[in-house]
Amino acid sequence: MNEMQLNKIRQSIRSAMTNGAFYRDRFAGVDPDAIRTLEDFRALPFTDKGDLRQAYPLGLQAVPEDKVVRIHSSSGTTGTPVIIPYTAQDVEDWAVMFERCYRVAGVTALDRVHVTPGYGLWTAGIGFQNGAERLGAMVIPMGPGNTDKQLRMMMDLGSTVLCATSSYALLLAEEIERRGIKDKIRLKKGIIGSERWGEKMRRRIAAELGVQLYDIYGLTEIYGPGIAVSCDEENGMHYWDDYLYFEVIDPKTGKNLPDGALGELVITTLRKQGAPLIRYRTHDLTRILTGSCPCGCAYPRIDAILGRTDDMIKVKGVNIFPAQIEEMLRGVEGTSSEYQVMIDHLNGKDIMTVFFETPLADDARRGLENAVRDHCKAKIGIQIVPKAVSMGELPRSEKKSTRIYDNRY
Ligand code: ZN
Repeated sequence: MNEMQLNKIRQSIRSAMTNGAFYRDRFAGVDPDAIRTLEDFRALPFTDKGDLRQAYPLGLQAVPEDKVVRIHSSSGTTGTPVIIPYTAQDVEDWAVMFERCYRVAGVTALDRVHVTPGYGLWTAGIGFQNGAERLGAMVIPMGPGNTDKQLRMMMDLGSTVLCATSSYALLLAEEIERRGIKDKIRLKKGIIGSERWGEKMRRRIAAELGVQLYDIYGLTEIYGPGIAVSCDEENGMHYWDDYLYFEVIDPKTGKNLPDGALGELVITTLRKQGAPLIRYRTHDLTRILTGSCPCGCAYPRIDAILGRTDDMIKVKGVNIFPAQIEEMLRGVEGTSSEYQVMIDHLNGKDIMTVFFETPLADDARRGLENAVRDHCKAKIGIQIVPKAVSMGELPRSEKKSTRIYDNRY
């Protein structure tokens, strides 16, 4: 954490406490001027989505009424939604960050940006639009649905960049294939946001659309999409540390983890006015990547979002995420990406069996099982029972969490 970031955090907390009851309660007893070091900062309480819900509808507003120009809301699939107020400066800052995302992805003012995420209370569509307009590209503000019209506009207007969720991108790719119109499609890049998606789905979309794909990250509570993006290196996502401070914590203990360790992403806004957030727990699983990126972009990176912390399981006292198993298997040659994990409790001990597919047989298969066992011990620090099976034997699922069967309880 640098001096500029600490300074911004002090300012944020000070002004939020002056203007908003939510922040006065939250930081009761905190003297913003006394936050001088990283340790002081790390002593501040976390904020969770539940806290934001309690502030419904406008309790998060941290500026006088005349400064608020817009609100967005996170989808309230479970219970009360969260309303986030934006000032004109917040709207501008978000567009600046989103424009950077497009630039990292190589999008220029000559591109035609086809926006399919939804508009309205949700932050997606308008975020994609404002960033592209700021860049000077031509926006085609489609919103979701109506595949016929999507494809017609895509052909007639010569869309070059597709902004979509992974599932909608896949649907469009399949439709293009089915209708045999691939030669009329001018897409070069896909900017894919909001959902976690597997490597396999990614390859399918890229191959069927014939485009290079970029992951874009964000959440409504923190502006919306556009706060991090992957580059041509496809090795993590750059994020904007002049607007946001990222930390990664152990989701169980709340302790900060060293760079490179997998844990929960926690975000602090440095400039947000309408509803600043300090140490906001995203429940997204990633790690801070170390070293500079060969693409030349100097902004720091986090890894792709590898899952939700809610998927975490504890085996033999070790926290394990489904994404770690997947990553571990990728590190052993001869395994496919299909796997299944069974956890049992026998004779007072946890037993974790990892099934994985392989084209190898006989001795080679047994050798591979040993390699997976050793690799797992080295990478995750846990003893497993490796079981290799033939290709196609395991059930297929797009969802990572359904590959874990916990039979202990
Ligand atoms: Zn890069």
